[in-house]
Amino acid sequence: MRCEDAQELITAMVDQELPGAERSAVEVHLGECPRCARIYREERALKEDVRRLAAGVRAPAALKERIVAEMGALGAEGKPRRIWQEWLRPARSTLWPALAAAALVLLALPVVRWMQPRQEIGLTALATHERVLGRDVALIRAASEAQVKEQLIRSVAGRFAPMGFDFSGMNLRVVGGLIEEVKGRKILVTVYEGENPSLTCYTFLGTERDAPQDAGMFFDPQKKINFYLFSRGGVNGVLHREGNVICILVSKLPMSDLLEMARSKARPS
Ligand SMILES: [Zn+2]
Repeated sequence: MRCEDAQELITAMVDQELPGAERSAVEVHLGECPRCARIYREERALKEDVRRLAAGVRAPAALKERIVAEMGALGAEGKPRRIWQEWLRPARSTLWPALAAAALVLLALPVVRWMQPRQEIGLTALATHERVLGRDVALIRAASEAQVKEQLIRSVAGRFAPMGFDFSGMNLRVVGGLIEEVKGRKILVTVYEGENPSLTCYTFLGTERDAPQDAGMFFDPQKKINFYLFSRGGVNGVLHREGNVICILVSKLPMSDLLEMARSKARPS
């Protein structure tokens, strides 16, 4: 059996859906091939994470449905997407009843949760993004990306810096910056524009508790980082922490793309 063939069957094997003969063939290959054996172990660990995540799932049903719809429109290549699909559309797995139950509980969670103070920055970020799109805010424009960054850093007396992510691979470039204040906390906003829907990156001193309470959480086992996903009215946000700095990426890009962008740039602290 070739590695490609084995790897194709590993997910089914983890799901315990592989017929006996194929299963044995994969097992033989795993015994001989450390690389595939490692992939198998990772996949199994991920499955375990997904199970735990589903047990404590907090993403509201509406968000979940939207992501599922978006996922349906995308290809299924690439590991992260597969994980997402497993979490969000566990049609083949035994998670479904648990998720359905969780969704029912979540539907019962009222709007009150919105009102709680800790999550204000996340929701403010979504609102600010809309204002940036509507040209409803004055941006700090500078000759270069570095100068925008420099000005933002200066505005918080060097206490922290914007992430300075390079999204040129997504045809998005820094066009300006902005400083916001929510309850005395300064937020540095970097605005990216280009061929794709615009993106704004928010950085501020905080903790993971700054994620909206109804955010869904995705744990990246490679980077060992938690990503919190939330959205309102078609604007998506992905929050993660690097040391004492919180970063939120906000865009109308599909949630799966935004999560991919955050995951690819995030640096473990
Ligand atoms: Zn192999």
